[in-house]
Amino acid sequence: MRMNVLLTAAAGLAALFFQPAGNDAAAQTRTTFDIYVVDVEGGNATLFVPPSGESVLIDTGNLAPEAAIRDAERIMAAAKDAGLTRIDHLITTHWHGDHFGGMAELAKRIPIRHFIDHGPNIQPFAGADEFIANGYKELYSKAKHTVAKPGDSIPVAGLDWRIVTSAGEVLKTPLAGAGAPNPSCASFKPQPVDTTENAQSVGSIVTFGKFRVAHLGDLTVNKEFELMCPNNRVGTIDLFVVSHHGLAVSNSEALVHGIHSRVAIMNNGTRKGGLPEVMKTLYSSPGLEDLWQMHFSLLSGQEYTVPGMFIANLLDEPSAAMPVAPMAAPPPGPSTPPPPAHNGPAYWIKVSAQADGTFTVTNARSAGQGGPTADRAQWRKRGPRRC
Ligand SMILES: [Zn+2]
Repeated sequence: MRMNVLLTAAAGLAALFFQPAGNDAAAQTRTTFDIYVVDVEGGNATLFVPPSGESVLIDTGNLAPEAAIRDAERIMAAAKDAGLTRIDHLITTHWHGDHFGGMAELAKRIPIRHFIDHGPNIQPFAGADEFIANGYKELYSKAKHTVAKPGDSIPVAGLDWRIVTSAGEVLKTPLAGAGAPNPSCASFKPQPVDTTENAQSVGSIVTFGKFRVAHLGDLTVNKEFELMCPNNRVGTIDLFVVSHHGLAVSNSEALVHGIHSRVAIMNNGTRKGGLPEVMKTLYSSPGLEDLWQMHFSLLSGQEYTVPGMFIANLLDEPSAAMPVAPMAAPPPGPSTPPPPAHNGPAYWIKVSAQADGTFTVTNARSAGQGGPTADRAQWRKRGPRRC
């Protein structure tokens, strides 16, 4: 990672981007495309708000009663910070509980106008099937519902929002300006066919002027290869929301190196994602300037983790020292001890981009929002890409 970027105190940042309540009022004063990667403890919830104020949320965090309420509240905090009074579009990448789990609770707290998904659940699981047949159907029957296909555009004022993967299919025709041969395909090692919902993930490429974001949900490596090889059909990316919480069944070099992102943000948990293999792939990615994480992952250990200033959240009961060596993920089962808990105050990582490609990454924990390092505000501003 290169560190030759401007470090500036951020005391005024929150005030600078504070918007009055209401989508329409916010739209009058907002000038940046704001992205909030919300901490939902190794699930996903990423909120996108362009200057028009027309918002898109990808996923709603975790299932289980307390986690769903916790995660819905955390998403609401980001929506309030952005001055939103509704979610205009909700993309559910796939039917796993760490992606749709907080939806019912969120829908009780804020109107959602448009529901987007890949179609039916292909991995029978009572929690998902019951929700899709009842709660979800009830929600979208009162709103708009779209089953996304690769190549679709989601109409969002001020953004070019393209679907590049859905229901196991990938984009066939390159996006504008993309389609060059991808040299990172050479190292690709296929994995066994993924019959889970992960390979069904709805993947998006979002463009705001010269600034581009990739969010592919939990898409796994064989589908990454189909999308990225032999030619890169999505092009060059500024911000990569790391796939699948930083698990190694996703995040091949064909994808991570192929998109050549400048900044990556990983939605990992305290013992989920941040695998050494993925950390190595990210660190060796050409042009990557910074990697940010929702949490320190025990599976990274200090060997592979990023410095603390790039980590948004701590633990409810901080440990005196973090392990140096990466921990092996314990086999799942009833006797597995729970991962270190974090149900207390949570912080997002926020990216604010301008149409010329300039963008700022803010760690809310350390940027004057009440975190333990509020006096050491850390944020990073970058000019447009030079090459
Ligand atoms: Zn997931």
